[in-house]
Amino acid sequence: MAGIADNRVMSERTIPIIDHRYASSVPRIPEVPPAVGAPAHDLLGRKLHDLRISITDRCNFRCTYCMPKEIFDKHYEFLRHSELLSFEEIARVARTFVALGVKKLRLTGGEPLLRRGVEDLVAMLAAIRTPGGDPIELTMTTNGVLLARKAEALRRAGLQRITVSLDALDDATFRRMNDADFPVQAVLDGIRAAQEAGLNPVKVNMVVQRGVNDGEIVPMIDHFRGSGAVLRFIEFMDVGNTNGWRMDQVLPSTDVIAAIARHYPLRPRSATTRGETAERWVLDDGSLELGTISSVTRAFCRDCNRARLSMEGKLYLCLFASHGHDLRTLLRGESGVKPVSDGELSAAIAQVWRERGDRYSELRGSAAAPPASRRVEMSYIGG
Ligand code: SAM
Ligand code: SF4
Ligand code: SF4
Repeated sequence: MAGIADNRVMSERTIPIIDHRYASSVPRIPEVPPAVGAPAHDLLGRKLHDLRISITDRCNFRCTYCMPKEIFDKHYEFLRHSELLSFEEIARVARTFVALGVKKLRLTGGEPLLRRGVEDLVAMLAAIRTPGGDPIELTMTTNGVLLARKAEALRRAGLQRITVSLDALDDATFRRMNDADFPVQAVLDGIRAAQEAGLNPVKVNMVVQRGVNDGEIVPMIDHFRGSGAVLRFIEFMDVGNTNGWRMDQVLPSTDVIAAIARHYPLRPRSATTRGETAERWVLDDGSLELGTISSVTRAFCRDCNRARLSMEGKLYLCLFASHGHDLRTLLRGESGVKPVSDGELSAAIAQVWRERGDRYSELRGSAAAPPASRRVEMSYIGG
């Protein structure tokens, strides 16, 4: 198993980094731009395929493993609206990425459904075509609480699928984990609305923390069997600096599968696409497809084909990065830099991707791993 640091405390809760002024630099525009349409490969030969776009740093939840209340409290300074990329700017960056080979866009946050007019952004992104004229895959990750109200409009705007996070079925456990007193029923209503709107198959993501919600694994299976949803179990990750991550709270996916197998016979399924993060499983009676995402115990960096764009226009090449590439300065022409043309933007992004060598999960716990300080938070970069 790659990258395990047994029982080590990886981040200290005592000195969290709590602002968004993460280190960043303005990407350089190469003098010789890459050939138009040439796919971008990084230093490890990974081809750019996905772009995750975080559209807000705000959230209505305070999940204890993501935005702990004692840090993301009323004194916490969220970004001002003028600091966020506008929908037009997001669409321009997304079009550039698609021209460079991206086939899939995922909207995330914070909580993406809190961004006003998000349906308009979905419509703008849904209109993007690949250089070959094909539609792109367009999806979203949400905590689901506003989904009952928004699912139909999102679908009509062109969203194709949705992932809903849900960590427990037991209401008390769920409220404790979201730490904002939201009932589980609100999320279940959202999932049902998404299914009725045709955003199928809905994926349901559960972050499993040993001793916190591992008792919910089997109840979640009982509930989602026969529902048409896909249920995925995610290992608790050491992202950011504020969630007090400890290795002993990680329940390895192998243990999750063993726990399920004691109640339901299941078998593995092969991956559908290269770079897919989840290992796929199916209950023997075919009533539920499952996934396990094992970024701690089974690193998948060698196939990692994702770039991440923050709400303020910084491009990150890894979930565990502590340095971003400031595209907003290029787009707006801030700080004395002149605004770039589409060709220059494309060349700058391609160059950033070509220089990428990130593989944090493979290095976790080794001397070569980048230091934990100044890592971007999950609520900022969106998972
Ligand atoms: N607010 C939305 C939601 O919760 O679905 C989108 C943003 S959230 C940061 C994206 C995903 O990251 C969620 O599925 C969440 O459970 C997951 N996540 C957050 N912190 C995590 C951690 N420390 N380890 C593993 N997954 C985490
Ligand atoms: Fe909000 Fe999602 Fe983070 Fe929970 S995991 S605090 S819902 S951004
Ligand atoms: Fe990708 Fe970084 Fe995660 Fe590795 S650690 S899979 S490079 S995001």
